[in-house]
Amino acid sequence: MVKKAIFRKDGRLSEVRKAKAEGWYPYFRPIEAYHGSRVIIEGREFIMAGSNNYLGLSHDPRVKAAAEEAVRIYGTSCSGSRFMNGTLDLHEELERRLARFTGKEAAICFTTGYQTNLGGISALLGRGEHIVTDKYNHASIMDGIFLAKGLYGDVKVHRYPHGNLQEMEERLQAIPEDEPKLVVTDGVFSMEGDIVDLPTLKRIADKYGAGVYLDEAHAIGTIGPTGRGTTEHFGSSDLADIIMCTFSKSFGSIGGFLAGDADIIEYIKHTARPLIFSASMPPANLAAVLKTLEIIEQEPERVQRLQQIARKMIEGFKSMGYDIGTAQTPIVPLIIGNDEKTFLLWQALYNRGVYVNPVVSPAVPPNRSLLRTSYMAIHTDEELDMILNIAEDEGKKLGII
Ligand code: PMP
Repeated sequence: MVKKAIFRKDGRLSEVRKAKAEGWYPYFRPIEAYHGSRVIIEGREFIMAGSNNYLGLSHDPRVKAAAEEAVRIYGTSCSGSRFMNGTLDLHEELERRLARFTGKEAAICFTTGYQTNLGGISALLGRGEHIVTDKYNHASIMDGIFLAKGLYGDVKVHRYPHGNLQEMEERLQAIPEDEPKLVVTDGVFSMEGDIVDLPTLKRIADKYGAGVYLDEAHAIGTIGPTGRGTTEHFGSSDLADIIMCTFSKSFGSIGGFLAGDADIIEYIKHTARPLIFSASMPPANLAAVLKTLEIIEQEPERVQRLQQIARKMIEGFKSMGYDIGTAQTPIVPLIIGNDEKTFLLWQALYNRGVYVNPVVSPAVPPNRSLLRTSYMAIHTDEELDMILNIAEDEGKKLGII
């Protein structure tokens, strides 16, 4: 049968087929079981050094029990959007607690972190308005901009090189003073594990009358003395106007939220299409976040342990000669630059029972391929030493270090 034109697609599929045939295709590998920091894949045990479950809470018995209890009371789905039949008392309780946790007046939850950025960015931007964004910001931020452009046409996008706040200022300076503008940045960058210089960014944004939207997906739970993220790391919740975060990382669930002044959150609630036209966060996921939030507030030692682990791994990889960029958090990239070597090192670690994520373009710029390693508060020192020793061995064999 002749394939219809619309289905005659290839893209990078020839590369995928080649990788599969040669046995080093690294993606979509099903995990068969989870035991704390260990996973079973293809019947073999691995140390998981590629998860975003930073505080190790997604398998905490208290979190699992809370999710089970919510299913018993509320069932498995809300079967509708927040706007209509899909709001539970649990959504509102979580929003009140998140507002308090972030030091903001109000919060609103979305069903995924991706939708949170899609909804937040597209609701805030209007016709003729400006967004100034770091080139390394997460794809969901860029997709929020695409949605705004699709909806309003004339949205002006200014991208600045990663972390270059001087260029950010130049972009802001060039925008007419009376035109509304938003600066958006990740707090902790998802692939590089570095932290934005938020006090400087906020000072510049204020000077030009721009709002600050901060994506804390990888920052809450990982930085700040009690895990409250980039604003706490730098000492004030006023350093961002809007705080965004996802629940799929430190919160051990799925979903996301925006926090800010009550009137702008109310506006987003009535405007964000991914909130209005998609079913709300289900009960089990809400209850899991409520419980992990309580644990984060009551057990700051988890955050402290994670920060100690981050320092150990950063020092360890650096001292053996790996290029880890400017990582400062439990995300430690091994920057290799070349796709083939990246996949070879990935395979060598995989063969020795260490699971990490190979990242190539377009998720990172071309020539900046890397292995993204990430750590959890539940890793033991013995596991961390094993990862370091294996990475040293295999990195040397491949001539990477
Ligand atoms: N923002 C950032 C910085 C992220 O890294 C991610 C996901 N990796 C998201 C938003 C989207 O969150 P989620 O995967 O929970 O939808």
